[in-house]
This record gives sequence, structure tokens and C-alpha cells, in this order.
Amino acid sequence: MKPETACVHAVRDATHSTGAVAVPIYQSATFSHPAIGESTGYDYTRATNPTREHVEKLVAALEGGVDAQAFSSGMAAIGTLMELFSPGDEIIATDDLYGGSIRLFEHVSRKNGVDIRYVDTSDLEAVRAAMTGRTRAIFMESPTNPMMKVTDIAGIRALAGTGDILLIVDNTFLTPYFCNPIALGADICIHSGTKYLSGHNDTLAGFIVVNSQELAERLRFLQKTIGGVLSPFDAFLVARGIKTLAIRMEKAQENAIRVARWLVKHPKVTAVHYVGLPDHPAYALSRRQARGFGAMISFSVDSAQTASAILENVKLILFAESLGGVETLITYPITQTHADVPESERLARGIDERLLRLSVGIEAAGDIIEDLERVME
Ligand SMILES: *Cc1c(COP(=O)(O)O)cnc(C)c1O
Repeated sequence: MKPETACVHAVRDATHSTGAVAVPIYQSATFSHPAIGESTGYDYTRATNPTREHVEKLVAALEGGVDAQAFSSGMAAIGTLMELFSPGDEIIATDDLYGGSIRLFEHVSRKNGVDIRYVDTSDLEAVRAAMTGRTRAIFMESPTNPMMKVTDIAGIRALAGTGDILLIVDNTFLTPYFCNPIALGADICIHSGTKYLSGHNDTLAGFIVVNSQELAERLRFLQKTIGGVLSPFDAFLVARGIKTLAIRMEKAQENAIRVARWLVKHPKVTAVHYVGLPDHPAYALSRRQARGFGAMISFSVDSAQTASAILENVKLILFAESLGGVETLITYPITQTHADVPESERLARGIDERLLRLSVGIEAAGDIIEDLERVME
């Protein structure tokens, strides 16, 4: 089954009782037992729920994983995942990471005795140099947020070996439609389902997808114990969103390519970071490990004044955090997504007052460009 077909048909309603084409919303906290010691397979929604199970199977199928678990947000998924680790464990993480993950690592994981070392994972030698006998995981994002650096997933797998170092990939930006980290050697793939998977800026969701039964069992235990599960209604919304994932990704990417090409030529733009531009340093690597480039662009303008003029005057484009929805959003990483990153580190990564990030939506490309053109005169 091709990915676009899988988005629509990979999982059918498990109960098969009515022939419903859309998964029913099982808005029930608990399920009655047929007899002592018997179960319908569903007992209590924190442990399992048919609607959540549907979207979990769907995401597992799209990612080629053994199992997937759905959480109430991407951060609930990552927070639960971190419970796999114990005091003294070391994790190597991509330096240009989603700000919320850095906040979790620095303020929660570190307190729990887990040491996080940030390295530029697009540099395999830097990863090799950071590995020690205590390294238990490599946690990476590709392309990164907001600088769009790309990491060679299979290369990292080869470095990590097949021992006890878990390779964890946050695949939020590319989605399973464009990239399948598990097929490239990842043990665990995570998602903020809030973004492209649900796709309409109307729900929060998170996923952990695993490549083994052993990891599935450990994470199922953590999920039901910690309890940050996706609600039945939100599971329905994500499943509904995934049905159109393929056409949304294709259209958003097509728009992103046009917007990126237009930005490159604009006199007030000093740099454009988009993986789909042939002069992006990882263009060739991206073509090898992914079926597409996604629709996230960051770019620098000539001054902080130009940046504020854009943010305050866009009309069609919305000045808002988040990404991956049908609407084009513009974000100011320095005050929004990356406000918690210490200033020196932020500047070293190029996140300054001239950097803007676009999540290109599915509108007509000409309308998006027209809005930018007007505010960048
Ligand atoms: C948004 C995001 C998260 C966090 O997900 P939430 O659903 O907002 O909790 C994690 N990783 C990446 C790359 C994200 O963009």
C-alpha cells in the first residue's frame, strides 16, 4: 500500500459492528465486564480505548512500527519517554532542538539525574566524540527547528551500534508521509500530532512509535501509569486529519518551494533555510533519506525592524506559534518557540531578532507571497 493510500485505509474500525466508515468516538471512561475474569479487551480508557487504539494502529502502520501510543500532547509523549531512563544515564541530543524538549530536558530530566549533552547531530564525528559508556540514547530532530539542519539517520544508527543505545527521532516536521525513521534504523519515532498529523490547528496530540515488542510493553506500562493519554474525541480528530495528510503535505511542500524561491530573491532577505532548495547543504542527504522536504522555512531579514514589520502587518499569514496546519503561520523564534534557550546559546545557533520561521500552509502560493510582498516593501 502506498503512503497516500495507507493514510486513508491502513486501519479500519476495529469493532466492525456497524460498518461505520469514520472511526466512532468511544466517549466512555470505563467498559463493563462480561463475567469475572473476562474483558471485552477494553477495561478503562487510561489503559485502552477503541478510538485511541484506532489512531495508534494508524500511526504505527504509517511509520512501519510494531506499536504506537497516543498521548495528550507531543510533550506528554516525550515526558513519558524520558521515564525509560535512570539517574546516571546520558543522552546525546541535537543542539538545535524544539524549545519545549530543551525545557523538559533541562528542568525535569536533569533534576532526575539524566545528563543531556547537546551536539550538532548533523556532524557524525561530533556525535561519536560525545558518546561515552553511559550513553543510553541519541535523541534527534531532522530537519531541526528552526535552523533546518539535517541529520543522517542511518549514519547515526551505524555509530550507535546495535547495543543498548536507543536512537530516538522526532519526526514531527517530515511526518511518516515523507520520512520513516524506523526503516532507517531508529528504535523510537516520536511526533507532535498537534502539527501535520492532525493538521488543522485544532487539537493537541503526541505519539511514540517503537520498533520492538519489548519497547512497546515498557512504554504501554508507562503510558497507563502516568496517564497522559489522548482523549477519544482528540483521537478521532487526529485520525480524521491523517486521512488528508498526503494531499496536505504535497500542497504545503509545493507552496514552500515557491515561497522559498521568492524569499531567496528578495533584497531584504539575507538567508533562507529550506531543505528543498538545491543549495541547502543537506539537499542530497534529504533526497536519500526522505521522500520530501516538508514545508518549514526559516529566514533572516536585514534588520529587527523589518522582522517586526512583517510580524505585525501580515494579514493572510497568521502570527502564531505552532506549525503543520492548513493555515500559513509565521513565528518569531526568539520570543516564542525558543524564548527559554539561554541567549548565548540562542545566538550561537543563529536564533536572533532577524530570524523568522514560516510554516507554509495549503492556501494558493500566490496569496501567501502577495501577503509577504506587501509587508516587505
Ligand atoms: C510542537 C513540537 C513538539 C511538542 O509537541 P506539543 O504537541 O506541542 O506538546 C515536539 N517536537 C517538535 C518538533 C514540535 O514541533
